[in-house]
Amino acid sequence: MKVFKFGGASVKDAESVKNVVRVLKHEGFEDTLIVISAMGKMTNAIEKIVDAYYYKTNNLAAQIEFVRNFHIEIIDNLFENKKNVILFDLEQLFGQLSGFLATNKSTDYNFIYDQVVGFGELLSTKIISIYLNEIGINNSWIDVRDYIKTDINYRNATVNWEETTININALNTNNLFLTQGFLGSNSKNKTTTLGREGSDYTAAIFAYCLNAESVTIWKDVAGVLNADPRYFEDAKLLEQISYSEAIEMAFFGASVIHPKTIKPLENKNIPLYVRSFYNLDLKGTTVGKNLNLLPEIPCYILKKEQILVSISALDFSFMVEHNLSDIFKTLHDNKLKVNLIQNSALSFSVCIEDKFNNFETFLSKIKLKYNISFVNNVLLYTIRHATQNAIDLVEEKGVVLLKQTTKGTVQLVMQ
Ligand code: ADP
Ligand code: ASP
Ligand code: MG
Repeated sequence: MKVFKFGGASVKDAESVKNVVRVLKHEGFEDTLIVISAMGKMTNAIEKIVDAYYYKTNNLAAQIEFVRNFHIEIIDNLFENKKNVILFDLEQLFGQLSGFLATNKSTDYNFIYDQVVGFGELLSTKIISIYLNEIGINNSWIDVRDYIKTDINYRNATVNWEETTININALNTNNLFLTQGFLGSNSKNKTTTLGREGSDYTAAIFAYCLNAESVTIWKDVAGVLNADPRYFEDAKLLEQISYSEAIEMAFFGASVIHPKTIKPLENKNIPLYVRSFYNLDLKGTTVGKNLNLLPEIPCYILKKEQILVSISALDFSFMVEHNLSDIFKTLHDNKLKVNLIQNSALSFSVCIEDKFNNFETFLSKIKLKYNISFVNNVLLYTIRHATQNAIDLVEEKGVVLLKQTTKGTVQLVMQ
């Protein structure tokens, strides 16, 4: 069995969905499971529905209309027949969404987020599944929430591998399956999500449980490049990389593969191909065990919207184990992700990411016991396989606030 993953960019409009058909016909689709994300930037749009509802702003109806119209336009451009079938399914899903918003009693933002945001994937997979059936590519739409079971950690759920494996093994293969990325469900049968951009991980979960022969992630780029092409001119294709290299790149923030994707694949030695959905003649990138980086060139990773924090003791004492563990606990309690650490006798610096808007709470707690200063909105560059030329190239981009070198990896915090 093969697993294919199509992300938002590959299904952003009707033409793109038709292109998915081209990919399937070119590659073959027997014995395949396809994981699909929400269309285009729909997850961002649905996040706005969540916020409008939660914060009771007056644009909830408009946000819902925006998402509905986006999908209706795609349906209009995609379907010649059977429009009523898909429109019926679409209205059913919007009915479920309205029903949830009207009856929900919970005040837990993360719970509400997961119940609402998953409609992006449900809508996209319904539309694509019905379209494929209509043009003769017979497939079975499956609800991923019946297969991937997780804990109750809404917005960043952890997979229950035991249950998930049993569920997925019950799938009768020799078929073409189509399902949602990003989603799971917990023991209360409530929708959970695996973290933003988590559809890659979904593909890896299915591949692991099915002992798949490979996973292919279809992208709007030629494969994994040595830098994000939006920020680096002249980014070059990496023809092959090892699982460890891919994990390191994803960990430092290369947004081309979700960081959790690699482990399940590595554990079963399942190759991952990252390929262009535009140019099917290109081989793309192969990620596998012990593959040497090819070509062997520096790789640049940029993380934006970081906060550089510097902390020292109020009484001029050393920053050692006991105060460091106290600071780390406070960071952890506030779900602040640490991307770089630097320590000296009297001060401790960290570059952190505030995904859940907890920095103010962290600040107020730390201020009680330490001196703290911070710089908002800095950039964190990581260069793997760094050369002097590569470092010079990054340093030219701004002012270096902090620099750290470890075994061929150089990290620069810049403003
Ligand atoms: P998807 O639609 O599958 O979710 P994304 O838009 O999340 O795709 O990811 C693809 C984008 O990732 C590319 O268009 C590119 O701008 C960006 N990107 C960032 N880092 C890299 C990299 N190292 N190699 C390739 N693409 C990268
Ligand atoms: N649709 C989700 C997101 O945009 C998951 C994904 O695309 O991987 O985060
Ligand atoms: Mg994405």
